Amino acid sequence: MKNSSLLRGMSRDGSARVFVIDSTPIVDAAICRHLTSPLASAVLGRLLTAASVMGSMSGEEETDSLTLSLGGDGPAGRVIAVSDWKGNVRGYIQSPGVDLPLKENGKLDVGGAVGHGMLSVIRDSGDGEPYTGSVELVSGEIAEDIAKYYAVSEQVPTVCALGVLIGRDRRCLAAGGVFVQLLPYADPELIPVLEENSRALREISSLFASGMSVKDVADIAMKGIEYDVFDETSPEYRCTCSRERTLAALKTVKESDIMKMLDEQEAEGRPRSLEVVCRFCGNRYEFDEKELI
Ligand SMILES: [Zn+2]
Repeated sequence: MKNSSLLRGMSRDGSARVFVIDSTPIVDAAICRHLTSPLASAVLGRLLTAASVMGSMSGEEETDSLTLSLGGDGPAGRVIAVSDWKGNVRGYIQSPGVDLPLKENGKLDVGGAVGHGMLSVIRDSGDGEPYTGSVELVSGEIAEDIAKYYAVSEQVPTVCALGVLIGRDRRCLAAGGVFVQLLPYADPELIPVLEENSRALREISSLFASGMSVKDVADIAMKGIEYDVFDETSPEYRCTCSRERTLAALKTVKESDIMKMLDEQEAEGRPRSLEVVCRFCGNRYEFDEKELI
């Protein structure tokens, strides 16, 4: 499969910036790691796509990270996506097998799977307290919820479109997203143009499925507006776990609790060791008593 592609650009008059991602390989990698149902793939895929763009938007330092956390009361459970400053993402969904009937229009019921609740955006620069902003979900369809987050929490008018298309074999046929943001002192005449353009972005995954590039889709989002492309990068589904990090996390657990878990292992006839599975990528790490205590 080709690489994911993330385009960043800006209108020539400095009124608006545009981000377009073809996240098909990212979403497909998530499906392969989490063995998600088509509905879970759509929920997690949309959130990963958004997190990748938002991480690359706000990141300035290598240590910057951005987390999107969807906490709805629907059957999908909690869904998390974490991006680094370049848009490399990882994520998980609490109920990877979630399934609901298709909506009347034949689409996967992402809003129904997510339900009512909150969307939280956590920005962490790696030093000091992370910044968290939360909004109540509008529909659970994710794109609208993120647009509301920008409007309410950051006062930045934002067009957001996200889409994931799943094939009969449960793999990702196409996935992608578009963000257009108005900058301070934007030309107000741009607003109706961007709104009109956004109608053509509703079927964003179909645009990529038909073979369009990120530049083709950016041309649709910015139709009638002169703009320049800054760069085009290739973010990936990438986990940051390692044996060292996992052990460091275990070292923060109370020694008496570790002993209790080791005793339980022994009582069940297993060696005195602990296995930790990374929830983002499924990698397994095993530690014996000598390492832990
Ligand atoms: Zn991992």
